Amino acid sequence: MLITSILFLAAQSVEIQATPASDIRVDDLRAHISFLASDELEGRESGREGGHKAANYVESNFRRIGLKPLANQDGAYQIDFELERQGITCKNVVGVLAGTNPAYVDSYIAIGGHHDHAGIGGPGAMGFPGEIHNGADDNASGTSGVLELAEYYTANPLEHPIIFMTFSAEERGLLGSKALVASNVLDNEKIMFMINLDMIGRLDKDYLFVGGLGTAAELHDLLDPVFESSDLALELNDKGEAPSDNTSFFHAGIPALFFFTNVHDDYHMPGDDADKINYAGEVRVLSLVTKVVDKLDQSTSLKFVNHGGMGMPADFNTRMRDHYRKIMERSAMKGKLGIRASVEGDLLIISSVREASAASEAGVMLGDTLLNVNGRDITSMKTLRMALAGGLRGENVDMVVSRDGTKVALKATLK
Ligand SMILES: [Zn+2]
Repeated sequence: MLITSILFLAAQSVEIQATPASDIRVDDLRAHISFLASDELEGRESGREGGHKAANYVESNFRRIGLKPLANQDGAYQIDFELERQGITCKNVVGVLAGTNPAYVDSYIAIGGHHDHAGIGGPGAMGFPGEIHNGADDNASGTSGVLELAEYYTANPLEHPIIFMTFSAEERGLLGSKALVASNVLDNEKIMFMINLDMIGRLDKDYLFVGGLGTAAELHDLLDPVFESSDLALELNDKGEAPSDNTSFFHAGIPALFFFTNVHDDYHMPGDDADKINYAGEVRVLSLVTKVVDKLDQSTSLKFVNHGGMGMPADFNTRMRDHYRKIMERSAMKGKLGIRASVEGDLLIISSVREASAASEAGVMLGDTLLNVNGRDITSMKTLRMALAGGLRGENVDMVVSRDGTKVALKATLK
């Protein structure tokens, strides 16, 4: 059941019971990702309002599902941490689901994924300035996966307790997960293994990467039969490190697995949108995760193996090279207006117009106040960047300026 539909369905209790909340459902994933990857969250940059909104969304879902804070969380679901030397506060979110076997009360399973992304030209952004990087696959997909698994295991509890977490500041360098394993909130000794979901929303040709299988001595014996019976095209890798949060847990001596449907053309680009997610595919990925977790729940302990090195898909570097080439091509197409503006309160005053630029040909003049660009009211440099975002050469820009107290409409063609 979705937080967004609770109010709507409140008067229809029959409907609420018609579909079991325990199922991992396409509709639930779609609702979570559609919100998390909406423009309202402005790309969920860690430490900014959009990032905080994502953390609040996770917390409200953890509460709805019935997860509890751990003893060391002082009753709070959100664990703040400061970015060094930047004075920026970021928020991880943590909640626990009790297990059924009292013998395992001090032996946790951990499932996590990062909720932050690249903002509007924030850390990791590869698009043009002003473009919102919605991060539907990276990593609203993993965040929604954490929420759906929390719901699933609440209805189908395991013997071990499960800690569910979403991390901030992954895109700044795994900082949220690093802060969490270094804090006293988690007792690393008591975590049996960790599952990291990062970019699991673009299942293509059934391909799924699972890394970290060498990080505990027992993993292959226990999990190979699970993988052999899967209908996914799995690429398995033993190495314990990756450019993602499983690395922080691995470095803390915790066996950690990494689930990943691979990079694609929209990686860290503004086109990583909710409508491109393979929702049915993500349900299949999460279903495999439940089989892995259920199997490992039958163990009393796992023996950590310090199997380092980058565990990534075999074609990852090729794909990234191709990706950077396409970004360079797009970059070469970027259209320019040719103005500079100075900010006075919430007014943007044109302070220079480059000769023979799109702006000068459109008749923009020094001292004009920019009121509106492409239908967007201009009140700051941010609103101007967002109004011009993604503009390619040859595209038209509609502007309204104020000149000597009169509104003037201008049309420029980007160069
Ligand atoms: Zn990323």
